[in-house]
Amino acid sequence: MLKVEHIGIAVNNLAQSMPLFEKLLNTPCYKTEAVESEKVTTAFFRQGDTKIELLESTDPQGVIARFIEKKGEGIHHIAFEVTDIEAEMKRLQAEGFTLLNDTPKPGADNKLVCFLHPKGTNGVLVELCMERKE
Ligand code: ZN
Repeated sequence: MLKVEHIGIAVNNLAQSMPLFEKLLNTPCYKTEAVESEKVTTAFFRQGDTKIELLESTDPQGVIARFIEKKGEGIHHIAFEVTDIEAEMKRLQAEGFTLLNDTPKPGADNKLVCFLHPKGTNGVLVELCMERKE
């Protein structure tokens, strides 16, 4: 894995949280993007070499809505950048980790992504992501 590409933070309300994080990070949000498949709207902030991704649910039954219901707002996942996502998925599977999707799927910010089951990672939801080249 190359580096921490971004940290995902679950929020109730992007309109409220964006100005808060702009103040906190002292940088403007550079992109908001809806990810239909995940039922979320995302907002991205650059922070040095990495990013912060705020996630607001667009659906009361969505994963982010359910996460907030259980645990409250806060850190939702850590995303690592990889050069070859399929090779990394194979490697992790061989090491006994459980993948939440069998094939890489389209994520926010022009990425292919795969999540690992947090049961196998001490409760940390891990995302692998790779820049899409098309
Ligand atoms: Zn993410």
